[in-house]
Amino acid sequence: MSRSRIVIVGAGFAGYRAARTLSRLSKGRADITLLNPTDYFLYLPLLPQVAAGVLEPRRTTVSLGGTLPNVRHVLGEADGVDLERRTVRYADPEGGRGELTYDRLVLTVGSVNKLLPVPGVAQHAHGFRGIPEALYLRDHVTRQIELASAAEHPPTCRSRCTFVVVGAGYTGTEVAAHGKMFTDALVRKNPLREGIHPRWLLLDIAPRVLPELDERLSRTADRVLRKRGVDVRTGTSVKEATAQGVLLDSGEHVDTRTLIWCVGVRPDPLVDGLGQPLDRGRLVVDEYLNVPGHPEVFACGDAAAVPDPNNPGGTAPMTAQHAWRQGRTAGRNVAASLGRGTRIPYRHRDMGFTVDLGGAQAAANPFGIPLSGPIAGALTRGYHLASMPGNRVRVAADWLLDAMLPRQGVQLGLVRSGSVPLESASPELARVLRVPGDTTEDH
Ligand SMILES: Cc1cc2nc3c(=O)[nH]c(=O)nc-3n(C[C@H](O)[C@H](O)[C@H](O)COP(=O)(O)OP(=O)(O)OC[C@H]3O[C@@H](n4cnc5c(N)ncnc54)[C@H](O)[C@@H]3O)c2cc1C
Repeated sequence: MSRSRIVIVGAGFAGYRAARTLSRLSKGRADITLLNPTDYFLYLPLLPQVAAGVLEPRRTTVSLGGTLPNVRHVLGEADGVDLERRTVRYADPEGGRGELTYDRLVLTVGSVNKLLPVPGVAQHAHGFRGIPEALYLRDHVTRQIELASAAEHPPTCRSRCTFVVVGAGYTGTEVAAHGKMFTDALVRKNPLREGIHPRWLLLDIAPRVLPELDERLSRTADRVLRKRGVDVRTGTSVKEATAQGVLLDSGEHVDTRTLIWCVGVRPDPLVDGLGQPLDRGRLVVDEYLNVPGHPEVFACGDAAAVPDPNNPGGTAPMTAQHAWRQGRTAGRNVAASLGRGTRIPYRHRDMGFTVDLGGAQAAANPFGIPLSGPIAGALTRGYHLASMPGNRVRVAADWLLDAMLPRQGVQLGLVRSGSVPLESASPELARVLRVPGDTTEDH
């Protein structure tokens, strides 16, 4: 009898964990293929620290080849699944085409930036979902401060050192908190005109920052942000964005060259094309993470609407913690469907949340106990180190260096604005920009 072919699409929190679980359970008796556009797993919660120059970008990655034994990695992006023929079509990074045949399929393609129909936002805002966007932001912010420092006219200087973050969930809150520290460090080396300081605005339509988390975390984050000088505007949204700035719904116009869009994410569009039931864009699965009517197909993480046993009728939130644990359940249930072990429903216990606010500051509520200040800071960093499936020593070393040395303020200019459009089905890859007449191949 031939070996079972298991294909996992997406090597994020859910897919990486599913692959690791299956690798352990199958002990080399199944062909496990992991299809992913990059050769790494990205630890997204540390991305704001890449944008702020605390961590070098590769620190947040974990090599797939180096950490997943007995798993074949195929570099590519799925663009079609044929549930009848049991095949996945994909494009590789150089435009080549391929097809994978499966006996079991695990879909863990995650999510992409969410757009709202606000004029000008798609053209002038940037999202925050992958390394290219984080690198773009790091360089862009550095460049704005350097240009502001040299600007002759005060209004230009003010506009260049004003940064607007929309969305005060954990991503936007961390980006603004780290961003303000970063620009304060940059102006120490690039002094601005008298009386002008870097200004960060954090906007959210909700009445408080971190609206989806425990109120005590919101209070801590709000206090730290305001003390640091971030202009927190709750109950506020953007009406229009232009190259010169943003118009708020209050009628106020803010001159800025930087609009960071952190209003949330939506499931990866790949699941749209399956022709299966969706719940707010997420693929419907049962408590065993199985797609109804397709016992050979599993899905979890941000792309799947996984029933939440702690909230009957609801679905598990899109968080790394859920995706990571669901990946393990999916791996076990795929193995069970091939005769190894028994399948289990997805269950979880709320272990709390951590939000890194930069420096020694954080807001955390491990097991429901609210913490702030350096204790929360140490716990948050310890939690990330313990949660990362690799590269921990390098991350810890960067944190140590950042605590001891001044922040390095140089821009490499490798990722430019047009390479990281807000509207993208692949935020993990920088788009290749072509000059007219350029016929060189892209590799
Ligand atoms: C900046 C940021 C900070 C965050 N911080 C936290 C936090 O502190 N705590 C927390 O709990 N959650 C956090 N989250 C949310 C968390 O990262 C997500 O919920 C989690 O990554 C979802 O896991 P996933 O496996 O579903 O998707 P992902 O981890 O996004 O992985 C999806 C994978 O699929 C790949 N992929 C996409 N499309 C295709 C395709 N067509 N073919 C092949 N592969 C594909 C992607 O390249 C990626 O590798 C954060 C998110 C962001 C963006």
